[in-house]
Amino acid sequence: MLIDSHQHTNWHGKDCAAVVADMDRAGIDVSWLLSWEVPEHEYDPGYYHVFDPRDVGLPFTRIVEACTRFPSRFVAGYAPDPRRHDCIERLEAAVRMHGVKVYGELKVRILFDDPDVLRVFRRCGELKLPVVFHIDIPARERPKPPARDYWYCVDIDRLETALKACPETIFVGHAPGFWRHISGDGYTAPEAYPKGEVTPGGRVQALMRQYPNLYADLSAGSGLTAISRPPQGQGRAFLLEFQDRLLFGRDCFDDRLMDCLKTQDLPREAFDKITHRNALRLVPLER
Ligand SMILES: [Zn+2]
Repeated sequence: MLIDSHQHTNWHGKDCAAVVADMDRAGIDVSWLLSWEVPEHEYDPGYYHVFDPRDVGLPFTRIVEACTRFPSRFVAGYAPDPRRHDCIERLEAAVRMHGVKVYGELKVRILFDDPDVLRVFRRCGELKLPVVFHIDIPARERPKPPARDYWYCVDIDRLETALKACPETIFVGHAPGFWRHISGDGYTAPEAYPKGEVTPGGRVQALMRQYPNLYADLSAGSGLTAISRPPQGQGRAFLLEFQDRLLFGRDCFDDRLMDCLKTQDLPREAFDKITHRNALRLVPLER
């Protein structure tokens, strides 16, 4: 079995039927479909390369449509903006009426330890919804206008406050601002996607060792880059140590992560945990 824990619909020119066709091609049984509810002024117009201009971000309505058409292939995710006064009520309604199982993808311009945000995280713990979040840190050099600095869910240190404050909530780390900290130079590396040698003292490992409620998905260029960085064997050692809390995910429609996992020569048990058993433990399937 194979579960993609990080996918979207109605992007890259794919409606939900096309997403299912691509899952069939890639041998994926089930995908978690995540929303991106974001104010229009908070996202990079560059996303229109892959986003439908009828929508703002990746709206929940598309996910409900997809799950209604393909109920055995998708798990519904939804992350209403935690700054909304009605965030918790909306989320509860989405759970009750549309079977939402994941709070994600959270990708808005918030600080992780904001009291309104922590309140939502605590409710997610009570509702048993894993929180899938996207960290992008402010650029080292501020882009020149009109380009903006699109940071989200800042940052790894404030994440620690949330991990501590919400021990019953499962957090699933994702995106460049999270994965850069697989290396000890996570605070100083100038690139958005550092590719150099992983040095000791990575915050990701430290937090995962200390907080059993921290998981991570390996999706997108960020996860793949992190486990592909030198020195030789670094990625495999990471996958083995955290095999109980890593999730296979794509956040795109290619096979690069699976190709990479296959070359790691992982024990069957670790491979199975990462590719579906961990995801099943977080979100059991009703089938
Ligand atoms: Zn995503």
